[in-house]
Amino acid sequence: MAVPIACDVHTHTLFSRHAYSTVEEDVRAAAEHGMGLLGITDHFSCMLFPTQELHNFQYFQNMHCWPREWHGVQLLRGCEADIVSLDGAFFGGDITYTTNPSGRPMSRPRTLKEIAFAECDYVVASVHDGTFAQGASRAEVTRMYRRVIEEPKVLVLGHIGRTGLDFDLDEVLAACRDAGVLVEVNESSLVGEKRAGSLDRCRQIVERCAELGVPMSFGSDAHISWMVGRHDATDALLDETHFPAELMACRTPEAFLAALSQKCQTLL
Ligand SMILES: [Zn+2]
Ligand SMILES: [Zn+2]
Repeated sequence: MAVPIACDVHTHTLFSRHAYSTVEEDVRAAAEHGMGLLGITDHFSCMLFPTQELHNFQYFQNMHCWPREWHGVQLLRGCEADIVSLDGAFFGGDITYTTNPSGRPMSRPRTLKEIAFAECDYVVASVHDGTFAQGASRAEVTRMYRRVIEEPKVLVLGHIGRTGLDFDLDEVLAACRDAGVLVEVNESSLVGEKRAGSLDRCRQIVERCAELGVPMSFGSDAHISWMVGRHDATDALLDETHFPAELMACRTPEAFLAALSQKCQTLL
């Protein structure tokens, strides 16, 4: 029997710059595809702008104006944060501001990461540019993921099947399970050009999650609303591996929100 999917918790909007839809277009597409919950997780990364002024990141400072429910879909606020070092650090952690975008002094210095994460219900942690990990040992990459999942707002490890990094899969998966972090099945990694290099690895990850009892999340990783809530390739992979429905945290909005409150102490 097919594993139900009712939440898409990794999607992008125009803010990501190489994506093409608005928040509302993503919400409407989620509703059309039967999603009861949508998480919008734009890139939080040095790839967005050539210089890292706070002016460029005001998007993350005003997400509290999003409605919690829109067109019948629960809407969550997030980001997809780049992992930038083998220590498990995130983009923006070493960029500090003392004034807000209008020039007024802040009550205390704050890092870009702190500012962006503050309004996020959860964070998807991903490696996009793995240059920093070139030449790293398996143990170092494994330790990197173990550190990343200690970050309080990190709920999802994004597309670990397509980074090309070598790490101890079982150790990382068990650490995720114990920390309440979800391992993502990423629809975009299973279709189109990205499929070629990652399908076998993604299949292996889904199989090991089933065997080790590790909860997974679903993300279309849509960069245009047309893709939001589509999960045909994910369905096929979950079917093929006989993935247990109870380990799919995106089977219902309630199941995802329970995982969210447990890991991130985010209560909605
Ligand atoms: Zn992207
Ligand atoms: Zn993404």
